[in-house]
Amino acid sequence: MAYAVPAPALVTVPVVGGDPFPVRRIYCVGRNYAAHAREMGTDPDREPPFFFMKPADSILANHSTMTYPPKTKNLHHEIELVVAIGKQGKDIPVADALDHVYGYAVGLDMTRRDLQNEAKTTGRPWEMGKGFDQSAPIAPIHKASDVGHIDKGAIWVKVNGTTKQTGDISDLIWSVAESVSYLSALMELCPGDLIYSGTPEGVAAVVRGDKLVGHVDGLTDLEITIG
Ligand code: MN
Repeated sequence: MAYAVPAPALVTVPVVGGDPFPVRRIYCVGRNYAAHAREMGTDPDREPPFFFMKPADSILANHSTMTYPPKTKNLHHEIELVVAIGKQGKDIPVADALDHVYGYAVGLDMTRRDLQNEAKTTGRPWEMGKGFDQSAPIAPIHKASDVGHIDKGAIWVKVNGTTKQTGDISDLIWSVAESVSYLSALMELCPGDLIYSGTPEGVAAVVRGDKLVGHVDGLTDLEITIG
């Protein structure tokens, strides 16, 4: 097949003990831990979940150096459990939602917080604060058939060996199953979709040279350096 311009490469994420996972879309859940919602200045009292997106090619592989992005002075880490979708569905009942989950990974929703805050203030879109190049680091995916479904366990990120965010997956306001179900009523989910499920409290800025280690119990750690 000939194309008018060079065709973009398919973005993939390694799978532990399996073939690479092809990335179709990246969804992110906003404010899904109560203490983080409070630190962002909002009431976490189970307002409906909301979503934003990053481009598929904002994926950054484990053990990479992330180039400090342009036009920001406030690059934040958000450690998140990432859900990999393996089966198509829309209007998925909560009770069936986990059947659509292929696996899980540790991810970072890197955020140009100054640009995001400016967008919030002015009522503009979030993409330039959230969906920039290399903004979605992710460690290898573990199959749910190997590790089970994740509804509890420690989640944390360390920067240069110091713990910056720590929480527990059981503190999610909207569980993995509820998030998948809710999102599937807005958009048809397809194999290859990733859902970054939200971050616990303690988001903070990073600078060039920082080494980040992200963790969720039972999964491969995510390690990146800010360059
Ligand atoms: Mn996030």
